Amino acid sequence: MSNLALNPFDRLGRRLADLRISVTDRCNFRCTYCMPKEIFNRDYEFLNRSALLSFEEIARLTGIFTSLGASKVRLTGGEPLLRARLESLVAMLSATQGVSDLTLTTNGVLLPRKAQALAAAGLSRVTVSLDSLSDEVFGAMNDVGVKVAEVLLGIEAAAAAGLTPIKVNMVVKRGVNDHSILDMAEHFRGTGYILRFIEYMDVGATNGWRLDEVMPAHEIIRGINQVFPIQPVEPNYRGEVARRWRYVDGEGEIGVIASVTQPFCGDCTRARISADGKLYTCLFATCGTDLREAVRSGASDELLRHMIATVWSERADQYSELRSAETSGIGQRVEMSYIGG
Ligand code: SAM
Ligand code: SF4
Ligand code: SF4
Repeated sequence: MSNLALNPFDRLGRRLADLRISVTDRCNFRCTYCMPKEIFNRDYEFLNRSALLSFEEIARLTGIFTSLGASKVRLTGGEPLLRARLESLVAMLSATQGVSDLTLTTNGVLLPRKAQALAAAGLSRVTVSLDSLSDEVFGAMNDVGVKVAEVLLGIEAAAAAGLTPIKVNMVVKRGVNDHSILDMAEHFRGTGYILRFIEYMDVGATNGWRLDEVMPAHEIIRGINQVFPIQPVEPNYRGEVARRWRYVDGEGEIGVIASVTQPFCGDCTRARISADGKLYTCLFATCGTDLREAVRSGASDELLRHMIATVWSERADQYSELRSAETSGIGQRVEMSYIGG
């Protein structure tokens, strides 16, 4: 094996540590910031079943990524719980050598049906997305009329199954759900669930992103601090994307993911595999490396390892840090629902 294939660093000195795997590009929501209905409608061509990586292919690739240093694996999508028998994949991945943390990001509505099986199969914990406690606001954001209570039931089911600590992701769009920030903070304070506010990102090419719709993290923090005093907490580990804050009165902690106003590319250790098996080294990538083609044409583990290590060692992505006029016209970026959030 060449030296290149062992724990590669990229061109900015970042190690490969995390793997995000999108298991489907489909979703039962149409969040306006992710899969707007006007585009993701009946005419939209989602991937065919045969285009998706099989569970065996995903597990094999995961083993190769862990041999290169990745140890944290997150399943995402689209909505990962739409993938039939996902618990079988979880069982395969939890038995994969080198996987130390196996998690899932979900919109939560299928958790009441799935949480127990996922936990039994070895899933460590879940992150559940929820953008408001108001049915009106949340319904307008998920755009399929799903009610808040359905997601809260999903969170409870995950907690009952032991998929903890549970994180709750809230994407904040100014003028759309920023007035829900305090309600959300109040609701989740003292529950053990960790609420994380995410700046609305310009990912993909369909959500009509505008900078004036981004609510900067410092405004979110200031607003919460005025009502529920908070203080900063040291990161759990280098490369943690969420900046942590704790309530001074001991009622738990929150996080903010400020990818727009305080980008963290310098510590970005994440590789992503799309549902059809392309390797991306940045959420804002315009093209990926086709691992599925290599797998299906008989590539050995050694060759795959070399391919992945080479891509990683050539990586220089720092989109969020360079976000500016010069990077905004470089090509059609892939969608979040395809590459996985
Ligand atoms: N369907 C699952 C869910 O919603 O949790 C998993 C996939 S989703 C693409 C992963 C995360 O990305 C979610 O927390 C979602 O809110 C977030 N997300 C999607 N589009 C975003 C955007 N434009 N800006 C910031 N976060 C976004
Ligand atoms: Fe679906 Fe998640 Fe995207 Fe919403 S954010 S449309 S739930 S993939
Ligand atoms: Fe990582 Fe790309 Fe996001 Fe920067 S913009 S943190 S390189 S995914």
